[in-house]
Amino acid sequence: GVSTPLPELDASLLRITFSQTPKLVPEPNSPEIMSMQCCTDHMITCQWTLNGGWQAPHLHPYGPLSLMPTASVLHYATECFEGMKLYRGYDGKLRLFRPNLNCARMLLSSTRIALPGFPPEELLKLVEALCARDGPKWLPKKYPGRFLYVRPTMIANDPALGVQKPKEALLYIILTCFPDLASSSPNIGMNLLASQDDMVRAWPGGFGYAKVGANYGPSLLAQGEAKKKGYHQILWLFGEKCEVTEAGASNFFVVWKTKEGELELVTAPLHGRIILDGVTRRSVLELARQRLISGYYDSNLEIDLPALKIMERKFYMHEMVEAAREGRLVEALACGTAFFIAPVQMVTFRGEDYKIPMGKDGMGGMVTTLIRGWLKGIMYGKEQHEWGHII
Ligand code: PMP
Repeated sequence: GVSTPLPELDASLLRITFSQTPKLVPEPNSPEIMSMQCCTDHMITCQWTLNGGWQAPHLHPYGPLSLMPTASVLHYATECFEGMKLYRGYDGKLRLFRPNLNCARMLLSSTRIALPGFPPEELLKLVEALCARDGPKWLPKKYPGRFLYVRPTMIANDPALGVQKPKEALLYIILTCFPDLASSSPNIGMNLLASQDDMVRAWPGGFGYAKVGANYGPSLLAQGEAKKKGYHQILWLFGEKCEVTEAGASNFFVVWKTKEGELELVTAPLHGRIILDGVTRRSVLELARQRLISGYYDSNLEIDLPALKIMERKFYMHEMVEAAREGRLVEALACGTAFFIAPVQMVTFRGEDYKIPMGKDGMGGMVTTLIRGWLKGIMYGKEQHEWGHII
């Protein structure tokens, strides 16, 4: 006979149970917020089973999950997640930034580790529902420029130890308060420690392109060591030729002058599948291609950029070292949702420090400054743009 398809994830079935004990919204950068443990009043959960498909999603008070000690996720890292921000704009509106890309990436990640698929647009509707519920209270209109962090997560919660494809999974979405690092600490450049051969984040044929928990836990040792030595992040290299890939949980860009004297923006390519397809990375590339290819002049910002070549290609530490020695390094930046766009002032590789210029005002070079400004404008509604997804 014809088998009936199992229920898909369907945001229109959302059940709602409001919190009876709403919390007080903490002050910005209060100890509660700095603890990174503060979530909003509600969360959304949705259970999936192999035989029953997706159940109706549920918006309910924020609180602990119930898991059996045998749950697959606790043993086999059957987990993936996303990270985006909900911004309170200067025009009073709440916005997500290109959330369709995060929802598509969540699907890529979940299916890489045998968690169930779903229509990404249904996940987006659930994210919107939670943001619409808690956003107005937790991001008051009188405080434009603030944001909440949105964390969709999926875990396999089969209560069985078998090493096998999950038969049960839980999708959940939470909104957390996040310290506003840019405004609370002086905007100094990042110092990156290049990884050594004994620490590899991702490799061909692996899962470095997916946002799965298994990529992060094992990187914390190197990250902790780097922090102890005073570095902000690891610059992850790959292979004998020391291919430059990513910086911590951010993508990495360099601007240098080529030997021919052209100005070039370079970042690692996606096709090797060892880096994450960052939403910020994509946006930096797209804005650079739209607005910087033939140069840029702004007398107010004292910016006068010649034409910029934009390259997604493999590049290597020896190229950076050579550019640094020949005075051709112009700027470098790390970019991602959490820490946005941060200028890089130094990379340490095999015991040598390579300095990178930080621009006239010490806030980053011209490319960093321009793109950071444009993206901020879009996120906070100073520039009306299709990437700003109004809630
Ligand atoms: N690389 C890694 C490994 C990451 O975890 C992240 C954060 N998601 C990024 C890059 C930046 O991606 P995005 O711009 O989408 O936040």
